Amino acid sequence: MKNMHKFIILLLAFLIGINSAFAYTLVLPKDKKTVLNNEHAFFVGKAQNTEVITINDKRIYIAPNGAFAHTVKLKNGKNRVVVRSNFSTQIYNFYKTPSAEKEPPVLREFEPKRMVVVEDRTPLRDSPQGTGMNRISHLFKGTNLLVNGSQGDFYRVFLSKNKTAWVASKNLKEPDKKEKYTVPQFITMNSETFKNASIHTIEFTDKLPYTIDETDKEIIFKIYNPEYSENSVYTVNIKKPEKYTYKTLLSNGTYVFKVNELPVPESNTLDGITIVIDPGHGGSEPGAIGCLGDKEKDINLKIGLELQDRLRLMGANAVMTRECDGYVSLDDRIKIAEQNCPQIFVSIHLNSIPDIDMNIRKNRGTSVYYYNENSKELAKTVQKSLLKELSTRNDGVRQKSFKVLRRSEFLSILVETAYMTNPIDSVIYRKNDFAYNAARGIADGILNYLICN
Ligand SMILES: [Zn+2]
Repeated sequence: MKNMHKFIILLLAFLIGINSAFAYTLVLPKDKKTVLNNEHAFFVGKAQNTEVITINDKRIYIAPNGAFAHTVKLKNGKNRVVVRSNFSTQIYNFYKTPSAEKEPPVLREFEPKRMVVVEDRTPLRDSPQGTGMNRISHLFKGTNLLVNGSQGDFYRVFLSKNKTAWVASKNLKEPDKKEKYTVPQFITMNSETFKNASIHTIEFTDKLPYTIDETDKEIIFKIYNPEYSENSVYTVNIKKPEKYTYKTLLSNGTYVFKVNELPVPESNTLDGITIVIDPGHGGSEPGAIGCLGDKEKDINLKIGLELQDRLRLMGANAVMTRECDGYVSLDDRIKIAEQNCPQIFVSIHLNSIPDIDMNIRKNRGTSVYYYNENSKELAKTVQKSLLKELSTRNDGVRQKSFKVLRRSEFLSILVETAYMTNPIDSVIYRKNDFAYNAARGIADGILNYLICN
């Protein structure tokens, strides 16, 4: 009996041993039963690289470090996915709810009426949609608008004879009836040019909407007074410096539009340059989880701290939005940037789910994002320098409306150094010198951008 006992314990230990030696673990999906409204389900995890794993009978690639990732395209309704390894068969069930064909909202037109913007930085858009690259400008609280239609959750704003735009209805209110209102009147406009800056002032008796357009050579700043006349547009054409930032201010009815030329640092240093470094996520927000369980927030911070060291050595004033593993909201990250008046803001991330091609294994490499035109060249230069340092695949430079990128008073880029969920990239980002090399790539890219003509 005693021997039997021993035998069972030994057998159990043997089985557990086998299990831990060969079993795979999954980071994604989190559950065996999931309702998904996505087109794809992702299987991300680690295994022994001697293990053979099939997903719906397709053998999957396992990197030398055990990392794997696989995409399963879902059909509407029930999807059964069978994962087989050397020692077990597991069934995963996904339910994809069919996307209801929604009727597009209809446009309702009505007599023009005045409405007032309720908060600062309200997006003025060129289409009645709340996402994408359709922002024209950010309106100030108290701006008087003339609206003459609505569609879905948006009001159509009449700007001039040839121009309408859209504002979310939640950002507008009816004007206070008790308040005395007269149609705003133009007072004066003025431009001043300095060595490295120009300031353009346009004064009205009340707050009116504005737009900013950029061409290759010019920044075109316009103010509209549609209640006064349907073609009352005040335009300032500003010659674009090669490297520039700009800021729009409004108090009472006076717009001040400032364009600053970026300083050229002397003798290959970053003397006089302030750079805000923003390691993405932190604290309760881990960011993406890698195949082997690494957390994006930790790698972002490592790169950020290395970057701060390097930029300081190069003479820059380098400020962090977080220096340890804590949660910082996106608004607070922007606030920290604003308070430090930087020339450049760099947000540091690693990518996860593919942005373009939905093949989670094939999507890998480094990409840099920007939003405003003035940050495009910086994004390109940093991308080039990162690829040289990291030997990752070129995943491109892209324009996208990330919240941390929308300020124009400093250049803003968001770096995705590699893909957390890509098995091949996981070998790269787990190398000891990855953070150091990424920091070097970013820092050298910034310097190259600032010193080259
Ligand atoms: Zn991220």
